[in-house]
Amino acid sequence: MNLDKPIEIAENVFWVGSVIPEDQFQCHVYLIKNGDESILIDPGSRITYDITKKKIEQIVKLKDIKYLICHHQDPDIIGCMDQLIKDVGKSEKYIVTHWRTWALLKHCDWDVKLYEVEEKGWKLKAGDRLLKFIFTPYMHFPGAFCSYDVATKSLFSSDIFGGFTPTFELFAKSSEDYFDKLKPFHEHYIPGNAILVNGLSKIEKYDIEIIAPQHGSIIKRDDIKPLIEKMKDLRCGLFEKFTNTRDVLKLSKLNDLLEEIIKIIAYQERFYKVIDKFMCSLKQFYNVDSIKAFVISSDETSILELDSEKTSIIFMKDYNKLKQMVEASSYIKNGALFFKPSKLHTMFGIEEPSYTFPVKDRNERFYGICFIVFSPDDFNIYVDLEILSKFEIPISMAILAERKEYCTNNRIIQLHEEAVRDPLTGLFNRRYMNLLAEMEFKKTKRYSHPLSVLMIDIDHFKSINDKYGHKVGDLVLKHVAQEIRNHIRSSDIPIRYGGEEFVIVLPNTTKERAYTLAERIRKHIDVTPILVDGDEINCKVSIGISSMEDNPETFGELVNNSDKRMYLAKQSGRNRTVF
Ligand code: GH3
Ligand code: MG
Ligand code: MG
Repeated sequence: MNLDKPIEIAENVFWVGSVIPEDQFQCHVYLIKNGDESILIDPGSRITYDITKKKIEQIVKLKDIKYLICHHQDPDIIGCMDQLIKDVGKSEKYIVTHWRTWALLKHCDWDVKLYEVEEKGWKLKAGDRLLKFIFTPYMHFPGAFCSYDVATKSLFSSDIFGGFTPTFELFAKSSEDYFDKLKPFHEHYIPGNAILVNGLSKIEKYDIEIIAPQHGSIIKRDDIKPLIEKMKDLRCGLFEKFTNTRDVLKLSKLNDLLEEIIKIIAYQERFYKVIDKFMCSLKQFYNVDSIKAFVISSDETSILELDSEKTSIIFMKDYNKLKQMVEASSYIKNGALFFKPSKLHTMFGIEEPSYTFPVKDRNERFYGICFIVFSPDDFNIYVDLEILSKFEIPISMAILAERKEYCTNNRIIQLHEEAVRDPLTGLFNRRYMNLLAEMEFKKTKRYSHPLSVLMIDIDHFKSINDKYGHKVGDLVLKHVAQEIRNHIRSSDIPIRYGGEEFVIVLPNTTKERAYTLAERIRKHIDVTPILVDGDEINCKVSIGISSMEDNPETFGELVNNSDKRMYLAKQSGRNRTVF
């Protein structure tokens, strides 16, 4: 393709632009050869005019140009107009434009007539040629419109379908490839998605063979429909969200990432899934090492540590850190870059440069601190604070969601523990025994598995209480509970049954094995004195055993049988096991 010559893109439709070196923002000029009513579309910049003029003259005489379409009034469209109008010379020449555009162009005071598209019913008849005009307001100017050449089904779309092309490409390679080029352009040039969709839905009603935009690349029929479909989802108005960054490609990428992140959070994924996404996103811009957050727990007694490098939350009952955190709330008000770690950073083990921000909810309530930690090697002081600040809200949302989940779960676990445990000994309580053992009993009956129960009662416990006091009595109870725990398997269920009475439910255990276990526990308690304030307290227990071999009807009966045998043990001299 010889770009030094006019290129015929449809019958009698020519590209007469020129390549602007090292500019990703190419500007195109098109000419419709139409005898002495030829039409020049978006005539172009002053800097490319000389080349454009030469190219036009290879097709028509300049004086044969009757219509000069200006889709809008930017200098890359009208920069050459003063010279062009002089060169065309003849008296009957028209600027074809919208009245909104003319309101500005009239100030150029050109020697031309106005062909106002709305007033002329959105069409132009030039000899045999018919052009239809499509109003696409706010894309990107209030009076913006496109021109459709009925004969060749070519759409001259002005800024719509424009794109950034790092190297000059007169024709788009594919809809996929070109979408990536037009995407950032539209996201920042077009003010909003509704405006874009409005324009596109008017355009798609036309049967279009080729789209010739003013910027980017020419699009052929097959790529038009897929492109329009994808464009309808573009999130335009990029500069409404970001004000300080000029890198449109970067902003477009960031816009996509934030959108994706918000979606993930909306679906309430857990922190470790979300944080991976944040890390991937941030790594596209900076060399980020990790994200760490420290937040106060719901009951305000602890600090939760969330770390992108760890797979679970760390729970710290660290009063000092908690105090520091509360103090930090008064001076960490906004996100800030720390090149060197401050006292606070050291406190939380952050040694690298970081972006540090408070974790807050929508009511500005302070929950903790988050550190986006950078790799120190190529840390760049020109880190874009605006981009980082955009991550504060989504990261805080993810942290707060996880905190809520974690604290609620923890509270449920705690409540459950409280409901099933005896607070003094830590063994299960009688209520839990009834619940769990009942289930165990039914299972055992159905499958004819063995099941045994031990009833353990401390001998003369009243006299221990009387002699040493209630507190020491409690210690003895704890001691016996620990002895029980030390000897049983994890599948066994140890229960504090009453004051100084314990039950152990032994699933899958025969009477004989239960006896062996009982004797081991009894003897161990017998020979292990408890040391209290220099005193040695000797504690002994009596144990009764029952099992499924007695054919009990209910779990209650099974326990009663063990109780009866425990009394037999008491009656026959204590410190013994009866089965
Ligand atoms: P026996 O050998 O016949 O079992 O005699 P005993 O003294 O162990 O039995 P008794 O049932 O007469 O006394 C049990 C005592 O256990 C009475 C009660 O004050 C005491 N006790 C019950 N619960 C607790 C407790 O939680 N802490 C303490 N320190 N004592 C308790
Ligand atoms: Mg007793
Ligand atoms: Mg008793």
